Amino acid sequence: MKALKVLATAAALTLVAGAVQSDEKFITIGTGGQTGVYYVVGQSICKLVNRGSGQHGVKCTAPSTGGSIANINAIKAGDQDMGVAQSDWQFHALNGSSKFEESGAFPGLRAVFSVHPEPFTVVARADSGIKTFDDLKGKRVNIGNPGSGQRGTMEVIMAAKGWTMDDFALASELKSAEQSQALCDNKIDAIVFTVGHPNGSIQEATTSCDAVMVPVTGPEIDKLVSDNPYYSAATIPGGMYKGSGEDVDTFGVRATFVSSEDVDPETVYQVVKAVFDNMNRFKKLHPAFAVLMPEQMIEAGLSAPLHDGAARYYKEKGLLQ
Ligand code: GLU
Repeated sequence: MKALKVLATAAALTLVAGAVQSDEKFITIGTGGQTGVYYVVGQSICKLVNRGSGQHGVKCTAPSTGGSIANINAIKAGDQDMGVAQSDWQFHALNGSSKFEESGAFPGLRAVFSVHPEPFTVVARADSGIKTFDDLKGKRVNIGNPGSGQRGTMEVIMAAKGWTMDDFALASELKSAEQSQALCDNKIDAIVFTVGHPNGSIQEATTSCDAVMVPVTGPEIDKLVSDNPYYSAATIPGGMYKGSGEDVDTFGVRATFVSSEDVDPETVYQVVKAVFDNMNRFKKLHPAFAVLMPEQMIEAGLSAPLHDGAARYYKEKGLLQ
């Protein structure tokens, strides 16, 4: 009698587990290096999504990746459902321009929302004598790993200035999480990073050794900003990092959250709902998110059409007509 009861309970449990499992949907969000802000964007979104998995069944992971361009390529290939990408690379992926000319346009790319602003950031060893972007000529510079947004944007600036890799004494391709240590170990003179502020990577560079922020200005930069909707002038506030008391002028993009039209609208709806229903909580998960405003997040830096699942949520909330 007792044994039978246990068996019956076990069967019921199996049934329940089976029912839950069939409703589960696992999603992967592509981020960036572990000391950047994209990693926190992905981890924060997943944290909010996974709190509600019991209701909506969506389970989310956000591994570290090579960055913007790697994320867009993985979404296109169906290897990732969503990812974080710079607004300039969202634009070029959609249109098949710049770095995406060879692989072709990705018309199925969908915008979900935009996140924090990302100034193009150059940090140099104080003893390198680098004071302006043009001083990078002849120096050892980490131009970023292929697949990262900063590598792509660095190449755009170099093309605008008519520079090639030979203009550097060394052009290294370290990942963002490795570059600050390389700078402080005196393996390189300067690093570039398109990233929200403050962040762990630049904090590491400016606290482990004497390093300074370098402005990125001049006629070529002004032209890039005036010719392209996805760039804007940007300032890194003084006092944010040790050694940089003054504001530093540069230009920048916006971090955006993207997906593909092949990802089902209900899943994207649940992800957007988890973030926007908990916006105050989300904004506290990283200091770079403090400036976020929902009205801006559904528009700024987005060039791909909104994903249907995201648009549904924004319409329900009256954010979108
Ligand atoms: N903007 C960088 C990229 O696209 C990543 C920045 C970050 O990790 O926060 O690769």
